[in-house]
Amino acid sequence: MSGVGDLLRPDLRGRTAYGAPQLDVPVRLNTNESSYAVPAPVIAAALRALGEELADLNRYPDREFTALREALSAYLARQAGVTIPVAALWAANGSNEVLLHLVQAFGGADRVALGFTPAYSMHPIIAATCAMPWADGDRGAPGDPFGLTPESVAAQCARHDPAMVFLCSPNNPTGTALTHEVVIAAYEAAPRAVIVVDEAYAEYARPGTRSALHLLAGRPRLVVTRTMSKAFALAGGRLGYLAADPELVDALRLVRMPYHLSTQTQVIARVALEHADDLLATVEATKEQRDRMVGELTAAGLDPVPSDANFVLFGGLVDERMTWQHLLDQGVLVRDVGIRHHLRVSAGTPAETDAFLAAVAGLPAGHRLHQSQEGTDG
Ligand SMILES: *Cc1c(COP(=O)(O)O)cnc(C)c1O
Repeated sequence: MSGVGDLLRPDLRGRTAYGAPQLDVPVRLNTNESSYAVPAPVIAAALRALGEELADLNRYPDREFTALREALSAYLARQAGVTIPVAALWAANGSNEVLLHLVQAFGGADRVALGFTPAYSMHPIIAATCAMPWADGDRGAPGDPFGLTPESVAAQCARHDPAMVFLCSPNNPTGTALTHEVVIAAYEAAPRAVIVVDEAYAEYARPGTRSALHLLAGRPRLVVTRTMSKAFALAGGRLGYLAADPELVDALRLVRMPYHLSTQTQVIARVALEHADDLLATVEATKEQRDRMVGELTAAGLDPVPSDANFVLFGGLVDERMTWQHLLDQGVLVRDVGIRHHLRVSAGTPAETDAFLAAVAGLPAGHRLHQSQEGTDG
């Protein structure tokens, strides 16, 4: 036998792992992290709180992470205006682990998960790790290539009769949020499914966007997942969470590893939630850079998609791989999300936006699909 290839589970053979490049370049705009460092007062408070806990590291952490769930409940009441009881909250090491718990509990090899591509690439990967078949639904409405209508969602749910439906709002990588009507359409057209709405970017949504948290009451199969990795500038802290019916939440205890949230993770996340105002202070600045990129990319003859998140998907490129490499050569790392003629760029600091837009302005002839910027039509 040559290697582990023959030992690997047959359904995993030939698959590639999730792997956004982590390159050491001056301007990193490829994984939608916050570009802003954790503020000094938050660091000081976290160190104090950790100091009080470290002597107890001989003991397992609170398996029910009750103090953390109380802090999450208080945060959601303020941020979204929804009262979520502690029993209706769950957390894990990043919302990716939250999603894994959901698939472990409600998926299975004899049932189908449905998503609407392009969306978050980890949804099908997590299903695959649990040997759950994945149905690639599609997006697109007249005049809106990445939109999703209630009618389309309902028809696709009826066709696949899924056990799980993944919605992403605001959607990564396309940027736009879904309407409540779309979520309700999925809930009603997939009567045997757990409906997961991934709201990783909720804090960046444009005014008027309503969270699916408002739809939880009376819908015991609906789940809303969120994360502290993006707006809270805490990607390294690894804390994701969800809100759902307490009975559904209770089922997740069947699949999680005992004490899955370490003492330090619970402490740091709790302190971060206590300092939510400090940490979220950069959200408005990030939204400004996002809207600035949409405007300037349009002026540059490219096709940005309107965004409710901290990134912008833009089209109008002849060859996205060629442009990705060219931008990297200028010290700007963006994301090739596998959509032809498109790239995705995270909204960072004003200086990072300057660097990105300067690199775009300097794109040589042959990068843009629309040639008017280069005067070939004049
Ligand atoms: C970034 C992202 C997440 C966050 O994952 P964590 O594990 O919480 O860091 C979840 N969903 C989507 C759609 C994302 O883009």
